Amino acid sequence: MDFSLTEEQIAWQMKARKFAEEEIRPVSLARDAIEDPAATIDWDLIRKGSQLGFRTSVVSKEQGGHGIDYVTQSLVMTELARGDSAISKTFSQCWKWSHLIAAACTDDQKERFLEPFLADDTFVLGFGQTEANSGSDNRLPPPDVPNAGVRLRAELDGNHWVLNGEKQFIAHGNIAKLFFLYVRTDFSVPFTDGTTVLLVPNDTPGFSVGKVYNKSGWRFYQNAEMVFEDARVPVANQIGETNAALRKGEGDQSGDMFGDLELASNALGICDAACEQAHAAIKNRQLRGEPLSSQQLVQLKIGRMNMLTEALRAYIMRVAWEHDQKVHSNNAGLAMNLATDTVQEVTELNMDIHDGAGRAAERAADKLVRDGFIWSHLAGDTIQRLKVAGRVIRAA
Ligand SMILES: Cc1cc2nc3c(=O)[nH]c(=O)nc-3n(C[C@H](O)[C@H](O)[C@H](O)COP(=O)(O)OP(=O)(O)OC[C@H]3O[C@@H](n4cnc5c(N)ncnc54)[C@H](O)[C@@H]3O)c2cc1C
Repeated sequence: MDFSLTEEQIAWQMKARKFAEEEIRPVSLARDAIEDPAATIDWDLIRKGSQLGFRTSVVSKEQGGHGIDYVTQSLVMTELARGDSAISKTFSQCWKWSHLIAAACTDDQKERFLEPFLADDTFVLGFGQTEANSGSDNRLPPPDVPNAGVRLRAELDGNHWVLNGEKQFIAHGNIAKLFFLYVRTDFSVPFTDGTTVLLVPNDTPGFSVGKVYNKSGWRFYQNAEMVFEDARVPVANQIGETNAALRKGEGDQSGDMFGDLELASNALGICDAACEQAHAAIKNRQLRGEPLSSQQLVQLKIGRMNMLTEALRAYIMRVAWEHDQKVHSNNAGLAMNLATDTVQEVTELNMDIHDGAGRAAERAADKLVRDGFIWSHLAGDTIQRLKVAGRVIRAA
């Protein structure tokens, strides 16, 4: 089996590593410490990263992007996340949705949205599904519960949809220039048969931003509430058929696979950073006159951290390769579950090796634990594990 990378893949990996080391790392801890959650974003950094191609990487070359394959996407995300996983996510959050513009939008929509997205270094994308009373049910729809799922109401008025309701915890909710918004267009049927996707620009009349959430981890990454009061969105902004957004029942499989690989690769970057921090700590510290590296308990921890990290890397590379070869399997979801367990164990072991003296090194270790905990809410929670387990059982 050949594990080697192509020259192009290595070039992207090195570009991301350099950007992470020279631009992301120097600002990461200071950004994390800013109290106001809306002020943690660094537009200079986004602009520089965008100019290197990290915002538009997955749009095809023919359409003006870079068309990088899944193995490269995974390598780039891991390297950026080694610098700061929330900054990595800010870039990759644009990937799946820019891919969707290219794959599912009409020519008119591409002209109105893909072109400005490609041209503007600060044009980031958002995706709005979660609401105060609909979260997990959107991801694993319960059978026979008519009131579950998306409730943001959209009603037709001439050639416009009129939107009323709220979304919550939406990534880039306060900064995105364009949202893919899931809206309820038929309340007489379960939401899986009554939901439509609209392209909603941030200057839509009747749309406003509510609170920006003050998270303990991923503080650079913006999450906000979105409020719609008689907001008017042209029917020309609708993607696909009315009521058909979720008809496949479990969401779009290929989109899910991209998201799983994205989050697993990001977690791997955190694990790499944790291993690096732990190695630096044991070299630099003395305990009872001996270097920390001579303590057998510490050696065992370092061994375990590296074993888990390398096992995760091998699994992620296999998933990325499978995506590029169009091999269908359940490995993406399983790798993401493994990533959740791995990132949390590895960051805790790193924290164990550090002490609590509050120096920059300990604050950096603490940040990795807080960032790694995000996976419990986002990627490796019970509902996500049930969803993956269901797929495995159906495929057996
Ligand atoms: C960093 C971050 C970024 C996000 N970005 C976005 C975004 O861009 N767009 C968007 O739409 N949403 C976003 N979300 C929201 C996210 O999708 C929801 O938080 C998630 O779907 C869970 O919904 P909830 O928070 O309402 O939890 P709930 O649905 O209330 O679930 C709470 C807990 O109960 C568990 N649970 C629920 N049902 C069951 C069951 N049947 N059996 C066992 N356990 C169950 C869940 O696993 C979870 O642990 C983001 C969240 C985070 C943390």
